[in-house]
Amino acid sequence: MSIGLLVIILYLIIAALIYMVLQMEIGFYVKKSTNLALYTTKLSTNLNTLITQSSFIIKYSRLNKQKKLKATLSKAKALIIFTDTDFKNVKHYIKNTGIGSKTILPYINKSYFNYINLIRPIMQRLIKYHSLIAKKIFFMPIEIALYKESPIFSPFAIKAVEKTINREKIIRFYFNIIYLIGSLLIFISILFFIIYSYKKNKEIEKLYTRFNLIFDNIYDLAYVTEFTPDAIPKHFIEANDMALKTLGYSKDEFLKLSHLDIINANKRDILNMMKTLFNKGSMTYPAEIKTKDGRIIPLEVTSRIYKIKDESPIGVCIARDVTERIKMEEELKRLSLEDPLTGAYNRNKYKEIIEKESKRAKRYYYPLSAIMFDIDFFKKINDSYGHITGDKILKDLVSLIMKNIRGEDYLIRWGGEEFLIIAPYTSLNNAHLLAEKLRAQVESQYFAKNIKITVSFGITMLRKEDNEEFFIGRADDALYKAKSTGRNRCVILD
Ligand code: GH3
Ligand code: MG
Ligand code: MG
Repeated sequence: MSIGLLVIILYLIIAALIYMVLQMEIGFYVKKSTNLALYTTKLSTNLNTLITQSSFIIKYSRLNKQKKLKATLSKAKALIIFTDTDFKNVKHYIKNTGIGSKTILPYINKSYFNYINLIRPIMQRLIKYHSLIAKKIFFMPIEIALYKESPIFSPFAIKAVEKTINREKIIRFYFNIIYLIGSLLIFISILFFIIYSYKKNKEIEKLYTRFNLIFDNIYDLAYVTEFTPDAIPKHFIEANDMALKTLGYSKDEFLKLSHLDIINANKRDILNMMKTLFNKGSMTYPAEIKTKDGRIIPLEVTSRIYKIKDESPIGVCIARDVTERIKMEEELKRLSLEDPLTGAYNRNKYKEIIEKESKRAKRYYYPLSAIMFDIDFFKKINDSYGHITGDKILKDLVSLIMKNIRGEDYLIRWGGEEFLIIAPYTSLNNAHLLAEKLRAQVESQYFAKNIKITVSFGITMLRKEDNEEFFIGRADDALYKAKSTGRNRCVILD
């Protein structure tokens, strides 16, 4: 609304100026007419007669005092005579007026209303005879006629002056009408403009509210940033509630930041990424974002660049907090690699382990051992105590083993109640010691509260020429040997 006020003030100033100019124009016109009337009256032989007879003009001229008029007339240096008679006749009369040697510039005017024809020769003659005077006096055409018999104001001349005055009145009237209509038009247009901008503002406000409603209810983080033309991100210019809530900033705080402040990467990498985004136009990328309280949140960001003519390019980013998704993916991965009952690795993970560890052991020449073990007479245990107890025993066994192996060792559920330990940096002897330790511990302990079990172990070490099958096959053979030679024992196959 303050713009509306400004417009009204401006309008008032403009209107006042127009009014002043119009009034001045009118005043100027009146003055010129009056002056001319005065000059014309100088033709009278008898000044007093002239003054009496031309009282109408005098009144109009605002020189209401006779003395002043007399003074004006006697000071006149030149006379202009508008006449419809022969110039010679006029000259003769002028001589008889007693005005004497004053310059007389006649003009024979047959068409009183032809202003242009009237003024041109006057000016020409003025310039020709008395250029000095011409500069001082500016003539406006006026219809004043003089009788050749009497160089005083004739009724016709009076009528002509009257006409001039009337014209001035008419002009003043029309000026006022034009002024009134003009200012009314301006006022109406301003009113329309104000109403229009008010309505437009309301509409924009409504749209903005609606937009914000949508923007703030998006479940994803949404933020908008400006770029320099060479792809350097400037500060953010918009952010939705989700973005602010997730990152922990107030809107004011956030709008002072840029991508460089919130992405957890070094400045050069961020700028390179922004350049790529800028060139591609749109991109989906993972980003780690720093929150206000220093946490790091993984986001999946989709950014799109909008290049608007004559404005800074804009990047619209829609980002999703993928913390949960990453957790889930990790969980899924874990589940796909772990045995759900015992938590030991499964055969999927085994493939990865054996490939990685056998390669490493061969490359760096360190020993890699495998211990395959199997619960003795587990079928019987299942038959006597049931499968649920059997499961519990398996779990207990795994936790016992896990407690006794190192962090870099792997425990894999090979099948049923058969397990495999892959032990890097472990010689055959050390593997044997480990197996023996495990065997003794199992033997000495109760499982599922009150059940005793024993386990047989087969131990071997990776050879240079081994492939994975030979290596593990040998451990299996060793286990078979332990089983066949009485169980609850460790057998080494070198
Ligand atoms: P051995 O000393 O020769 O190993 O005799 P064993 O009875 O243990 O024979 P084997 O290893 O062939 O038996 C495997 C048994 O283990 C068969 C099955 O009932 C049991 N078993 C395998 N997987 C599970 C399991 O996940 N839970 C339970 N409760 N029992 C299982
Ligand atoms: Mg068994
Ligand atoms: Mg078995």
